[in-house]
Amino acid sequence: MNVTDHATKHQQRMQKVKQLVDKKIAQANQERGIIVLLTGNGKGKSSSAFGMLARSLGHQKQCGVVQFIKGCWECGEQLFFSNLPGVHFHAMGNGFTWETQNIEHDRKAAQAAWKQSHKMLTDSRYGLVILDEMTYMFRQNLLDINEVTTTLQNRPYHMNVVITGRGAIKQLVTIADTVSEVKEIKHAFRSGIKAQQGIEF
Ligand code: ATP
Ligand code: MG
Repeated sequence: MNVTDHATKHQQRMQKVKQLVDKKIAQANQERGIIVLLTGNGKGKSSSAFGMLARSLGHQKQCGVVQFIKGCWECGEQLFFSNLPGVHFHAMGNGFTWETQNIEHDRKAAQAAWKQSHKMLTDSRYGLVILDEMTYMFRQNLLDINEVTTTLQNRPYHMNVVITGRGAIKQLVTIADTVSEVKEIKHAFRSGIKAQQGIEF
């Protein structure tokens, strides 16, 4: 095939792709916020959520973040985002971890985080609410999935929500609009390499 034939074939192929893409874009005509669920054992769930926080702030959206496990005070995302206007950042100061080993303490911490989340999810000023590491609350029965589902489904129509954490239960997958499972192929930690500032925290 000569160069001209190759260019013509390419142009025809791209024209077909464009027609398909344009058709799909035209079909996506609903205007409402979505629920994004990021789960799985690989690295990249919370950092993806914070990427969407940056994107939303770029569009001047009011954003809320609730972290459902023990707040990481030296975490880069908290140091950076919590001081920005337009972000309401709620990290569990002494919340749920495998370190507390106290179910009543964990339940109280989970309820406190949910109270914050509920406030945001019912406030139409928020364009994005991130519920970081929320999935664990259901595995441990620390929160009522029916109550959370009802609140999520009744949220202001334009509001986007991102939920992260491993092992998301089926009900969360059902109510989410976009679900990604991050799969671990390799992780440096398994080779004995310490957590990296700016990459891990
Ligand atoms: P990140 O915040 O980096 O996007 P994540 O939210 O996908 O990670 P979590 O399960 O919340 O992952 O884990 C929190 C911490 O553990 C982060 O510092 C993360 O980099 C690290 N981590 C994530 N996946 C793994 C893994 N498979 N093995 C070891 N450490 C991991
Ligand atoms: Mg995470």
